Amino acid sequence: MHRRSLLKYMSMGTAGAVFSFSFPSLQAAIASETEAEWGYGMDDGPQLWSELSPDFSICTAGQQQSPINLQGAISSDLVEVQIGYQEIPLRLVNNGHTIQVNADPGNPITLDNQTFDLLQFHFHSPSEHSHNGQSYSMEVHFVHRNERGELAVLGVFMQEGQKNEALQLIWDAIPAEAGPEQAIAEVKVQLNQLFPVDRSFYRYFGSLTTPPCSEVVNWIVYQQPIEVSREQVEKFVEIFPGNARPIQPLNRRFLLQSD
Ligand SMILES: [Zn+2]
Repeated sequence: MHRRSLLKYMSMGTAGAVFSFSFPSLQAAIASETEAEWGYGMDDGPQLWSELSPDFSICTAGQQQSPINLQGAISSDLVEVQIGYQEIPLRLVNNGHTIQVNADPGNPITLDNQTFDLLQFHFHSPSEHSHNGQSYSMEVHFVHRNERGELAVLGVFMQEGQKNEALQLIWDAIPAEAGPEQAIAEVKVQLNQLFPVDRSFYRYFGSLTTPPCSEVVNWIVYQQPIEVSREQVEKFVEIFPGNARPIQPLNRRFLLQSD
């Protein structure tokens, strides 16, 4: 997950997990050019994030961090997430941390009877979450926000297999160098092709997986991966040779599964 389009946390209690948000904080997050640079290398990688800026201290101090290993979940009668995405025009950016597709308003999901609107989706390689200790070639994160500023992220594992045609539309346009957003209006992406047919999922509460690591995320991770081709994985890895944060401890959290 990426900080650029996300709210910064304002305050939090450790036990009560009390959060508050305000639009000034959103403005601060957007005006992020003065924030510390971070990455995945020896000098700026996940082990050092909390030392790069006081704003990133929760990356180490937090008790509800993401990603996690999805294992030992409690079966629960969870309501499936309702996805109401449209075909979206391609607004694509290489932000130096990942390839991200920005969405216009009007692509909702429903979770806990609340509407969250899609802000953007982006990719990691290898996967950030693991499943019974196994990681996948890639993972895509669909980032949503509700009216109160709470976040919901849908995560989908990607394993090597058949070429994914929806992904290819994006891949044909990805900029190899970081830069501003490129809008390619004539290309429309069918996002349902980036979700598995079997929608069994895990659910837990966690954080952004990138600085500032804010603990504000309702995570839904689908159990079944989608397939993408080896060439598609290799094209991403050429640009981002590794942009996954390591697994974080579950601590006192519940991991639920939908069946
Ligand atoms: Zn992510």
